[in-house]
Amino acid sequence: MSLNLLSEDLVPEHALDVKREARDFATEHIAPNAEEYYRTGDYPWEVLEAGMDAGLVAQDISEEYGGRGLDLEQVLAIAEEFYRADAGIALTLQLASFGAEMLEQYGTDEQKEQWLRPVAENDQITGLAVSEPEIGSDLAGMQTTAEKDEDEYVLNGEKYWIGNGVEADWVTVYAKTGDTDDRYMNYSLFVVPTDTEGYVAEHIPEKMGMRASKQAHIVFDDCRIPAENLIGSEGAGFMMLADFFNHGRVVVGGHGLGLAAAALEEAWDFVHEREEFGRHVADFQAVQHGLADMRLEFEAARALNYRAARKVEAYENPGLWAAMAKTKSTEVAVDNAEQGMQFHGGRSILTDRRIARVYRDARIPVIYEGANEIQRNLIYRQSGEQ
Ligand SMILES: Cc1cc2nc3c(=O)[nH]c(=O)nc-3n(C[C@H](O)[C@H](O)[C@H](O)COP(=O)(O)OP(=O)(O)OC[C@H]3O[C@@H](n4cnc5c(N)ncnc54)[C@H](O)[C@@H]3O)c2cc1C
Repeated sequence: MSLNLLSEDLVPEHALDVKREARDFATEHIAPNAEEYYRTGDYPWEVLEAGMDAGLVAQDISEEYGGRGLDLEQVLAIAEEFYRADAGIALTLQLASFGAEMLEQYGTDEQKEQWLRPVAENDQITGLAVSEPEIGSDLAGMQTTAEKDEDEYVLNGEKYWIGNGVEADWVTVYAKTGDTDDRYMNYSLFVVPTDTEGYVAEHIPEKMGMRASKQAHIVFDDCRIPAENLIGSEGAGFMMLADFFNHGRVVVGGHGLGLAAAALEEAWDFVHEREEFGRHVADFQAVQHGLADMRLEFEAARALNYRAARKVEAYENPGLWAAMAKTKSTEVAVDNAEQGMQFHGGRSILTDRRIARVYRDARIPVIYEGANEIQRNLIYRQSGEQ
């Protein structure tokens, strides 16, 4: 008796079709390739292209610009299915349009035609460059600068951890454009084509998890871009990013849910097959309670995550709900992975086991898109503001 998690009952009606598409795709293209891409650490171009053919990559971009206009609940439904199958490949598939949503919201019509449409039509991929080698959590402390020089901006500085920084056609770059006392008003966002002179990117050292996704160290050395590549208005970058992360964090919650489901399914199957003391390991009540706790926490997190998706869509305290969903779901993934490892005994540490891959991958969403300590700061502060 295997488990079937990620049930449909919590998923709104309008997201069910895309959820089923995502499950079919994950079963056919992601799960069977997970181990191979983890082992080689290659960029999964073939799976990405298959995902594009299936209409499941960069499709949160609106129909007006060539996408499917998938909303947050639909993207969440895709995320949990993809991450259940493999987090590394899933991250690559979901990063292909990362940050482009801000161009859609704040960009001009010309910018959207030039930069957004090719991403929605899957001719280009993109990425979002915020984090730096010396600064990660303090979004209002980043040091990369963009100085206006007549009809150009000149970028100088470094970015680190940037998904697709090597592979992308262009990236959205967050850079300092002012030095006012209000540190939250000093940043702006820019479209930066990766073939611009002065843009140099290389892969960061190999990671222990999510190896099928690639992050870059980017150096901007007098990198000149046209002034019309500014997104929205100068100084509004922090605010645009904060709003964007409310959506992103609900989806990262989905990363956690997929991983938590994978850990529970894998542990469940293992203890129902493994025998010790003349019975299945699953026959021990201590083990049953462990599985029960995994299920309880998983379902609680998932209910919170879908509730948060609705809240963010409706703009009801979006920062609070997004932070709660991201924190809870990603931490359930860590806890379930830890318990799943224990239930696998010595076999847990065999590198090619699915449970070991989940355990390594689960360490990552508790950090990216804002470490969970930062989320707790937001949860505390914004709870008091209600
Ligand atoms: C696989 C992966 C992919 C990524 N992709 C991208 C990407 O595409 N684009 C991008 O811009 N970035 C990306 N990141 C970067 C990610 O967003 C940062 O790693 C994250 O914001 C944390 O920054 P940091 O690693 O510099 O840690 P730091 O900010 O140095 O923090 C280290 C630790 O200090 C503690 N801490 C820090 N501040 C506080 C505080 N105020 N209160 C309490 N504790 C605190 C936390 O425990 C935190 O984990 C990615 C990271 C990873 C691992």
